[in-house]
Amino acid sequence: MNTMTEVATQNTIISTNPATGEKLGELACATPEEVHDAVRRARQAQPAWQALAVAERVAVLKRFQRKLSEQREQVAMLISREAGKPTVEALTTEILVVLDAAEFCIRTAHGFLRDEPLPHANLAMKTKRGKLVREPYGVIGIIAPWNYPFSLPATETLAALVTGNAVVLKPSEMTPLVALELQKLLYTAGLDPSLMQVVIGAGPVGGALLESDIDKVIFTGSVATGKRVGEAAARRLLPAVLELGGKDPMIVLEDADLEVASSGAVWASMMNAGQTCLSIERCYVQRSVYEKFVELCRQKIGKLRVGEGIGSEVEMGPLIHERQLRTVENQVNDAVARGARLLAGGRRMSELGPNFYAPTLLADVTQDMLIMREETFGPALPVAAFDTDDDAVALANDSEFGLAASVWTGNRKRGEAIAARIKAGTVMINDAISGFGIAEAPHGGFKQSGIG
Ligand code: NAD
Repeated sequence: MNTMTEVATQNTIISTNPATGEKLGELACATPEEVHDAVRRARQAQPAWQALAVAERVAVLKRFQRKLSEQREQVAMLISREAGKPTVEALTTEILVVLDAAEFCIRTAHGFLRDEPLPHANLAMKTKRGKLVREPYGVIGIIAPWNYPFSLPATETLAALVTGNAVVLKPSEMTPLVALELQKLLYTAGLDPSLMQVVIGAGPVGGALLESDIDKVIFTGSVATGKRVGEAAARRLLPAVLELGGKDPMIVLEDADLEVASSGAVWASMMNAGQTCLSIERCYVQRSVYEKFVELCRQKIGKLRVGEGIGSEVEMGPLIHERQLRTVENQVNDAVARGARLLAGGRRMSELGPNFYAPTLLADVTQDMLIMREETFGPALPVAAFDTDDDAVALANDSEFGLAASVWTGNRKRGEAIAARIKAGTVMINDAISGFGIAEAPHGGFKQSGIG
């Protein structure tokens, strides 16, 4: 089935289970007028929401949290069905993350929104007093991707709502049903429906949202689309947060616990079938432990159970779409053609369904290979050796991306010294990805990985 053709010709989108190809639903795309109407309704409802006491907005979040907790199994199943990831993974990386983010908003909203005195030391202004007052933007437009179809828009929506904003969400055309579920949960928590609306559709609907009367846009997606969104926002000086792609490096030093590091590498490269903005996409290992590390990864990758996400036995699901599969395939083939050693995977698993690709391990990769330069967004772990700490830093920084990175070592000081020299929004030591699950930790990228 060619979903994109149907999008273009019928003005509908088809939600499909990526594991089976089964059609889950067909939804009409919002017209530009409907997008503008949604924003207008949000604008009308927002001042009353802003005028409420913080405790009343917090109460809605608390009810949302309770509803989500009660319905976590069903929501996780829906995420599995529409996005392909194992249900257990949906529970931990989507539902738990949102429950925790809700808790963070609930706990910090009062303090964050309280007016702050602004002490100053300017003698000429000695008699003047000022204060910092935090105000909502108004209507926030959120444009979301499919890879974390629940946790990304939900965390952004909750933060926007608790601070007194209204939200119009344009979810990915691949995962509209999950976005509608988020909306339903908020409505059953008692939120005025005008304050959180979902507009369904592909790129043109996102374009219409950018042309509408929103006060800020929060975009998460690819660099190519992010640049288009950034341009459209700049034309009208619309504040924009751009959360874009990544090519996160992992540096394994010779003093690392190789059991832990190899498990970390496999987990963080294969989670969500590698379709995580923070997944490990490049792995650099100090030469003296290189072969041992590669062998441990080979053994662990060989044990991964791949299949349809709904079912507790499975650790890795399908890719979202055949297009994604072709990208991974191209990069793996390019690496092998240029001399990389293929130690696991490197093939489609058509016997499982239309979009499965085997967990892949490549050794002896070099910086010129596509798989070390472009975002893969698939289940591939490319590994290369390095000699000195300086070499490791140079390799890690040799990328147009700068979302996150990790350093694995038994010597924390050495790890921190290397971390300080890596140009990335987040650098973790002996860990990867998990920074995103901590609501208190900021998340954002350097270079092409984003702004804001
Ligand atoms: P995408 O750029 O294809 O689409 C993202 C969203 O933008 C979708 O909702 C899409 O419909 C919409 N869109 C497409 N064209 C548009 C246009 N012209 N105007 C407005 N909106 C438009 O990205 P994707 O394939 O859905 O997501 C995967 C990408 O997202 C990867 O690159 C990944 O690294 C990135 N990502 C980044 C983060 C982060 O926090 N930095 C998190 C998750 C995903």
